[in-house]
Amino acid sequence: MRVLVTGGTGYIGSTAVEMLLNQGFDISILDDCSMGHADTVPAGVRFIQGSLLNSDEVADSLADCQVVMHFAGKSLVGESVKQPDLYHLVNVGGTRILLDEMRKQSISKLVFSSSAATYGEPEVLPILETSPTNPTNPYGATKLAIDQMITSEAAAHGLSAASLRYFNVAGAIKTDRGWLAERHNPETHLIPNVLRSTTENPVKIFGTDWPTADGTCIRDYVHVIDLIDAHVKALHSLKDSAHEIYNLGSGSGYSVREVVAAANTAIGHQIPSIDTARRAGDPAVLIADISKAKARLDWEPTRDLNTMVSDTLKSMA
Ligand code: UDP
Repeated sequence: MRVLVTGGTGYIGSTAVEMLLNQGFDISILDDCSMGHADTVPAGVRFIQGSLLNSDEVADSLADCQVVMHFAGKSLVGESVKQPDLYHLVNVGGTRILLDEMRKQSISKLVFSSSAATYGEPEVLPILETSPTNPTNPYGATKLAIDQMITSEAAAHGLSAASLRYFNVAGAIKTDRGWLAERHNPETHLIPNVLRSTTENPVKIFGTDWPTADGTCIRDYVHVIDLIDAHVKALHSLKDSAHEIYNLGSGSGYSVREVVAAANTAIGHQIPSIDTARRAGDPAVLIADISKAKARLDWEPTRDLNTMVSDTLKSMA
């Protein structure tokens, strides 16, 4: 079976490529490398360096594929607030082109990289797939719009799809070519920022007055290998003309200070940090209810926070 992995040179997409190859899938990648890195592409993979917005390139990348795993898209919350038009164009418009070209080539299986940002500030914790969706930024709004587009496509045109709503992804995979690291510039995510912290440039703790036990935000972290494991299970579970949504997290939360403590242990010394004001748009607590993925996909995350932090550290060496 040949899988098109859009965004297959990015942090999560390249991990998917590695794991799918190891499981015997043939792989094509479509990526414009705006965030990803062409040097992650393994031998034996068909790589089209092109854009989701170019229907010819999308059509070319779909040749001989039976399934699409769709990771490509813009994913920075702050950037989305400043450039919502760009996020609508690339994320929503790009996915529209992808769905159209899939239909033209009778490719009817899709696994989509959605986000917990579709939920916004939760009213009830942990967050269920049936919880209200009130995204608080354009990034989350585009992921929700795509999920809705996929639901319509399944009903009208027989697409079989799964949307996977990620909480906080961390860790890395080791390949025979080295670690596939998260390489973002600027890096906004907590774990790489903590591990990179120096006395001259200490990691900022965004808010210490949140209504949580230690005053810092709580998030639900899932290892990127566990995350992709769920994608493969979702792919095997696709049902005719149905669109299923699954939360992917660990089902438990860690505060920013607990993440720093785990990083202290991994690094073997006290990491410098500085308490600062809250970051705009941050909810206090986000924790996933992952019982649907556990029950329907027979999936269970197996890598804990310490493993996520130590694998991220190794990937940065
Ligand atoms: N955070 C922080 N300092 C940083 C980056 C993040 O204190 O340099 C906090 C952020 O406010 C949030 C948590 O760490 O509460 C996780 O943030 P991240 O950007 O990694 O993921 P998000 O939850 O925004 O998707």
